[in-house]
Amino acid sequence: MKEETFTLLKNKVAAAGIEVFLSGKNANVRYVSGFTGENGYILVSQSGELFLTNSLYSEHARSTVRPPFTIREIRDDPFKAFSDLGSSFRGMKMGFEADFFTCSFITRLGKALSVSETGLVPFEGMVEEFREVKEPYELEAIRKAQRISERVFSGVLALVREGVEERELALEIDYRFRKEGGEHSSFETIIASGPNTSKPHAVPTERRLRKGDLVLFDMGTTVDGYASDMTRTVVLGKADRLKKERYTIVLDAQQAALEGISAGMKCSEADRLARTVIERAGYGREFVHSLGHGVGLEVHESPCLSVSSESVLKKGSVVTVEPGIYFPEWGGIRIEDMVVITETGCLNLTEAPKELMEL
Ligand code: ZN
Ligand code: ZN
Repeated sequence: MKEETFTLLKNKVAAAGIEVFLSGKNANVRYVSGFTGENGYILVSQSGELFLTNSLYSEHARSTVRPPFTIREIRDDPFKAFSDLGSSFRGMKMGFEADFFTCSFITRLGKALSVSETGLVPFEGMVEEFREVKEPYELEAIRKAQRISERVFSGVLALVREGVEERELALEIDYRFRKEGGEHSSFETIIASGPNTSKPHAVPTERRLRKGDLVLFDMGTTVDGYASDMTRTVVLGKADRLKKERYTIVLDAQQAALEGISAGMKCSEADRLARTVIERAGYGREFVHSLGHGVGLEVHESPCLSVSSESVLKKGSVVTVEPGIYFPEWGGIRIEDMVVITETGCLNLTEAPKELMEL
């Protein structure tokens, strides 16, 4: 996070009518403080910035947490550590991440800090809003992660043969991600074949690939904590007429979105660009998910490119464009690229080929 962005965050906290903001979501804590471990909390206020973590991570914190954060170690119970800070926060209004902390955590926190219930204010998106727009170092990491994913994808294509289990392919991808310099898979690698491709979030099974199968790869890795995300659907053997036809519809829908998407557009309008193409082909009901999502420190982050989203796409945002159509028992086709939103359009970060591959 740039210094200017940090100032903007502090201003946002003040403008929200709270004196201190508490964050515990790994991605937000990392973005704001630099801490790359888990179990870290940050407190941002006009009067200072504190970083808290338990003793397992204190050495890690000393090497990653940036100024102006002061590191405080949690020796045993986090509430005891918060209680020790009590006097600095007495009577203050504290905002917290409503979509992260549990009710029980917040109740105990209130007691530890002697802050009344009305003094604890839930917020969503306080830090996420800033994370939407990527800085050059973030784009660089996402690009690197995507390049690794593409190398792994093209290498693994040689293993797509009759008799290979979906699970074997997924395992090979995860292994190669690490071998190629990725930190880990950015989500559970999806390999689906034949009828299993009709489940958008399929889990790799023991099913063995057969001639004529659709094979769907949804994969990504991370570099410096930043994720990549890509989907390709290929055919083992020759694609029949229907597979070709449906593949072309999805590709055309994606193309329409890639050509029309730009900063300033509502996310729902971006979704509409692809959805219109699919609806015209008669498959509106089979496009069961949103067009895409933001990608960064989390593989699914804001904005959400859905039918109902009123959010506006920002320049510098990294989002996926991933239309798909699914037919129970027949299978499904999805094509997913990651792009950076620009003033006038978008820049595709995905270089893997998209013409229908018959392996
Ligand atoms: Zn994906
Ligand atoms: Zn995705």
